[in-house]
Amino acid sequence: MTGGSSYIAVPGQDQPHKRVISAGTVITGRPDEVLHNAALAINGKTIEWVGRLSDLPERYASWSREAYPESTVLPGLVETHAHFGARPGSKPNVSAPELHEQGWNALHSLFWARRLASVGVTSAQSLGSAFYTDVALREAIDQGLAEGPRIVAAGPMITTTGGHDWRSGSEVDSIDDIRHAVREHHKAGVDVIKVGATGGFFTPGTAQWKAQFTVEELTALVSEAHRLGHRVAVHAHGTQGIRRAVEAGVDYIAHGTFISDDGTTKFEPELAREIARKGIYVDVAAPPSYPPVPGETIAPRARDLYEQGVKIVTGHDIGAVIPPEAYLFGLYQLEEAGIPRSEILIAATSRAAAAIGLAGITGVLAPQYEADLLVVDGNPLDDLKSLERKRRIVIRGRNFQPDVVPEYHGRDEKTGDHDPTDSVLARRFERLQRARLQNW
Ligand SMILES: [Zn+2]
Repeated sequence: MTGGSSYIAVPGQDQPHKRVISAGTVITGRPDEVLHNAALAINGKTIEWVGRLSDLPERYASWSREAYPESTVLPGLVETHAHFGARPGSKPNVSAPELHEQGWNALHSLFWARRLASVGVTSAQSLGSAFYTDVALREAIDQGLAEGPRIVAAGPMITTTGGHDWRSGSEVDSIDDIRHAVREHHKAGVDVIKVGATGGFFTPGTAQWKAQFTVEELTALVSEAHRLGHRVAVHAHGTQGIRRAVEAGVDYIAHGTFISDDGTTKFEPELAREIARKGIYVDVAAPPSYPPVPGETIAPRARDLYEQGVKIVTGHDIGAVIPPEAYLFGLYQLEEAGIPRSEILIAATSRAAAAIGLAGITGVLAPQYEADLLVVDGNPLDDLKSLERKRRIVIRGRNFQPDVVPEYHGRDEKTGDHDPTDSVLARRFERLQRARLQNW
């Protein structure tokens, strides 16, 4: 990832150089650390110095200067829960589209990567990608064949036979299968192991409220992954699956929806405190195209988790499921739920970087960190919408020229921008209500 020889220039791609970026405000990504009239000295891909502009050391005097007195510099955004692959149902218009499945996935992945970078995402964790496309994408970006955020790759999600995401996942049914799948993923070059701990909304026939694995199976998966130096991220909607994952010692929970057996959500403060005590990250961002869960929406649960001290991070299921332009919308939802802007920015930058294994590399604007940053007009601590007014997107020290990104208006009922299984929980809840009346 650091090899200098790997820089093949994409035509027109900016080259890293020595420069000083100054701004009215610098949000470093450390809690409560905001500098005024500050500057960063960037040497290639690495930040060398950060401080007050008036204290800029003499040795940087000859470097090129970019001044943004009305703007804020902050760490680049991090998407902790992306999916790189083709949108469900999309295929090339030929007689045998199945022959193109891998290529089609790879091309979509490049599209998602550029689109993510265009909304200001400079690092993204892929949590489930068929054919290990995300590993190839990571390599293509690292080797300079394509532009995009740095990628942390999980490869195919490990699931049970017929379980959540089985079409693009790795199906396993025993502890031996599990160990083999983890080793196979390791061999293919993943960074993190993703496992489906419960059913999911986008796989018909799976139960979101039920666990897919026993504690024993999850424990075997976690110990094998950790032995090989990989973190474990679980997909978990149902409380039963969340509890088992926590007991097994996973590092990251995607969704954390707390769906109980009757299909409604019932937040469990005690379990949340255990998640907090173990330092497990939970992704909570709430784009509106998520399937509705009876009882509540997702954003208030983010506040519940936050109030119990859980390390919340911003993962939106972006890519094949949710369009990248929904990223900022997810942040606005968190603010609406009552989470302070300073906490949302930490959840979207430094903590999110730590959650995906990049602590000490990115997410903080400090010496020796890589230069992944945004320059935005205004100050997102006063108004998150200033994140829409980007002046510069810098990834690994290079300027990224964003594509034009369409405005995001949430779920589009007309174009069917949601899965037909959306209402599975609502239907189950209603049926159980009726069934309760039948006592003969
Ligand atoms: Zn997902």
